[in-house]
Amino acid sequence: MSRTIPLGEHAIVIGGSMAGLLAARALSEHFGTVTVVERDRLPNGPEQRKGVPQARHVHAFWAGGLQAAQQLLPGLRAELLAEGAVRLGMSTDMAWLTPADRWCRHFEATQDIVSASRTLLEWVVRRRVRAIANVHFLPEQEVTALRLDQHRNVCGVTVRDRRCGEVLDLSGDLVVDASGRGSALPRWLAAHGLATPKESVVDGHLGYATRLFEVPDDPSRGWRAAYVQPSAPAHSRGGILFPVEGNHWVVTLIGANGDHAPTDEEGYLAFARSLRDPLLHDAIVSAQPASPICGFRHTENRRRHYEEADLPGRLLVVGDSLCAFNPVYGQGMTVAAKEVERLAATLAGCAGPDRLVDVVRRAQREVARCTDGPWTLATSNDLRFPGTDGGRLTVATRVINRYLDRVIGAVSDDATVNAAFLRVLNMIDPPQALFHPRVAMRALAPVRRSRDARPATPVPAPERVG
Ligand SMILES: Cc1cc2nc3c(=O)[nH]c(=O)nc-3n(C[C@H](O)[C@H](O)[C@H](O)COP(=O)(O)OP(=O)(O)OC[C@H]3O[C@@H](n4cnc5c(N)ncnc54)[C@H](O)[C@@H]3O)c2cc1C
Repeated sequence: MSRTIPLGEHAIVIGGSMAGLLAARALSEHFGTVTVVERDRLPNGPEQRKGVPQARHVHAFWAGGLQAAQQLLPGLRAELLAEGAVRLGMSTDMAWLTPADRWCRHFEATQDIVSASRTLLEWVVRRRVRAIANVHFLPEQEVTALRLDQHRNVCGVTVRDRRCGEVLDLSGDLVVDASGRGSALPRWLAAHGLATPKESVVDGHLGYATRLFEVPDDPSRGWRAAYVQPSAPAHSRGGILFPVEGNHWVVTLIGANGDHAPTDEEGYLAFARSLRDPLLHDAIVSAQPASPICGFRHTENRRRHYEEADLPGRLLVVGDSLCAFNPVYGQGMTVAAKEVERLAATLAGCAGPDRLVDVVRRAQREVARCTDGPWTLATSNDLRFPGTDGGRLTVATRVINRYLDRVIGAVSDDATVNAAFLRVLNMIDPPQALFHPRVAMRALAPVRRSRDARPATPVPAPERVG
């Protein structure tokens, strides 16, 4: 039986991380072969690798992201849980001190997230994509240039073998850049005399410091995850603790506005103690560390407007290479999964290689649209800190922020507002959902709150959701 090849013979994906892997899966339905070129050695299990240094830090994969990834890889959630990922009901299982200085009540869970280390998430996705017959991996190969044909369409890439230095040209009908925040694509375009995309950068000078701990036995603990959220502009410090596989906590201390958590033991604990509430400090002070303390500082929001650029044909950009966010909002992987979901929807039903240039242009616009809401949310909150570079709050964003403050003020005590907020946080609903009259009426109701005691009672078993 002959196989239909609707869009082309060969697609090349640069970067074998979350965005690249999911893109390869989507493209495998439309191209004869998909090759993922990755400059790292790809481990045969959930191990750290050099190209994804952020993997040492907490990585929330919101329900909307997992849903999108599951469309491409059915059964992914069950596989993650089978590998030891932890199911968390939000906000039942989480001690959450909101920016309004309120501990969120343990409402019945309305969102169910799967908490795992970034390495496990990537490994389980990679294992699935590896099993797709027409997807091939070229590990330890670094893309060094784009190749263009006489019609100014991309026709492949140049790769350098990192083991022996050998250089070879790889031909393809489509090239997808998923090489992350540090993508060299603007440089590769410039090398061909092509215009580089406009870039927007909003930098809140945020730093992370993260350590793994063994989860201590404590049946009286009233939570399974904890988040002491920074509260702009007054409190630039925060911390998040998530349970992950292996009976570990991953504990990330967050410092915005250049106020970074130290990576030495004493400084790290002192920073934890200085948060608006010492819950995280008290949890870790006598817990057994299971890793060194690692820092990370390249956290600016960086958006490259490829959808507006005069790009060569047959080139698509996804993931952090297109738009990287301040990680404190946990958006990157979920946005990447949604972008690829949108890519898959755009490609579905498009047949014939002669349409490829147009289809890819349309796909780039669609994919970029997925970043609009998350970009606005991340940057308008970052801009509340006086030290943030790269933009200014407009009158409109100030008004929106004032409204969002009211929503956050109600999130801890009002089940309806809480559920609506969690749907937006989890990227099930767009941010506009927070302006629904049902939410607005409650958020704008007169405030009568004082700070609650932190949740201390044992958490009831979360309700099943979805
Ligand atoms: C500190 C931190 C914390 C984060 N926390 C969260 C979180 O809680 N939730 C969340 O959803 N997201 C989070 N993110 C974002 C998340 O890590 C990314 O959005 C996600 O990994 C998807 O990125 P990507 O696949 O586009 O790029 P990356 O993960 O950066 O991967 C790029 C890949 O391309 C490869 N590569 C680069 N150049 C080349 C080349 N020339 N040739 C071949 N291969 C190349 C790299 O080796 C790498 O494998 C966080 C990010 C940071 C920095």
